[in-house]
Amino acid sequence: MKNYLLSFLYCLIYLSITIMGFGALCFVFDAQTYHTILMTCLILGLGMSLFLSVWFKQDELFFLLFLTLLTYCFIGFFNRSDYSSNSYYNLIAFPLTCLLYPINVYFLFQVTSGDSFFRTFLKKLFILSIEIVVIYFFTYFVPFLLGPSAFLAFETTIGKILYFSFIRNFSFPVVCIFSFIICWTLTLHRRQNTPEQIQACVSTLFCLTFLSFFLISIPSLFQLSFLAGVLCVLFSLLQISHKMAFLDELTNIPGRRALMTQLKQIESDDYTLAMLDIDHFKRLNDSYGHEVGDQALRTIAATISQHVTSGTLYRYGGEEFVLLYPKKSIDDILDQMENARVLVSNSNFFLTPNSPEKKQKNQPYMASVHITLSVGVTQKQPLQSYDEVINIADQALYKAKQTGRNKTVYNKAGKFFELFRADNY
Ligand code: GH3
Ligand code: MG
Ligand code: MG
Repeated sequence: MKNYLLSFLYCLIYLSITIMGFGALCFVFDAQTYHTILMTCLILGLGMSLFLSVWFKQDELFFLLFLTLLTYCFIGFFNRSDYSSNSYYNLIAFPLTCLLYPINVYFLFQVTSGDSFFRTFLKKLFILSIEIVVIYFFTYFVPFLLGPSAFLAFETTIGKILYFSFIRNFSFPVVCIFSFIICWTLTLHRRQNTPEQIQACVSTLFCLTFLSFFLISIPSLFQLSFLAGVLCVLFSLLQISHKMAFLDELTNIPGRRALMTQLKQIESDDYTLAMLDIDHFKRLNDSYGHEVGDQALRTIAATISQHVTSGTLYRYGGEEFVLLYPKKSIDDILDQMENARVLVSNSNFFLTPNSPEKKQKNQPYMASVHITLSVGVTQKQPLQSYDEVINIADQALYKAKQTGRNKTVYNKAGKFFELFRADNY
């Protein structure tokens, strides 16, 4: 339910931004210039989205956009004045296109993306071509085959069944409402392992397309809602590229590049940095397998992130993490950080490998693992570069490892101390 409401909200946000932006242009320019600007934006946005989706190998978004473009072209073509008064349009082309769009999106998302981009492209193109053939067949051949009188009877009967009048002079094919709702639910349900940006984008596009078909009688809204859809795909692609660059794929926390970017930004500020390393992680991998090791990394990252509120956790690499506390001194953070470390050390994590191969082979097993962390902490001193800060935190971590692991060592005034014991090394 939350997903539907969120998509509806996103849909309204994209639509209102587009309407507000182009509404303002309407007042500034005459109709001809306005139309030229709108079409230029549409073509540019569409071109960029299609190009980026191929570049980032996001074939799901590429085909979703391609399908949406095709659908809007169909409706736009049949919605011209010479067609829109035509019963073929009302009875066949419009309802069929509305009916097939969600079904098509659903089937597009069922084609697994394991293949090469070209093979997936061919498979999905085949699905799309079915839509074109079906609509073409029903629009041109059915009336021709039936003949004028039979078609009139067909028109009256089907028209009564198909259309449902909500308010006077305002109707929408009922089957299309069901088709949208069912396919939207199935698409969201079947693709739970799709990245959340793609899910949100598909859902928002579903909503936008439905709304624009529903409000088809307001033509100015039709192009704007397509533009809003293009913007939605473009924004999702930018989000995906940002995520690829800055988020660690395994743990879903910011990665090393994000840490370096942040350290460069706060180079002149005061901050405290802690370097965390899982103890004897190699043993855990050797005993339970790499899958459980991966799951341990995810669990540790989630546990620490939840408990450390004043700092940000980054995956530095392998089984090493960095906690960065901007504008905080070492005394401000030691307690909170140590609490998070002790929490991990005092917990038993129940891990099961969630690899699909293991699940298919029916080999579920649960490992109860005890994980400890060693930590090295230092506060940035004036004129110190971030390389030097990382280096000192690393030295503190090394001392924690050397002196028995499962502990925190911090650096103060050039000396290393073990936390709580205040031993001077
Ligand atoms: P120490 O207490 O001295 O830190 O010992 P350690 O075994 O944790 O450290 P070592 O550097 O010897 O081994 C780190 C291991 O972490 C080796 C590598 O296989 C494992 N590792 C690194 N990245 C990943 C990963 O992404 N997933 C899994 N499962 N293991 C990883
Ligand atoms: Mg290490
Ligand atoms: Mg280690």
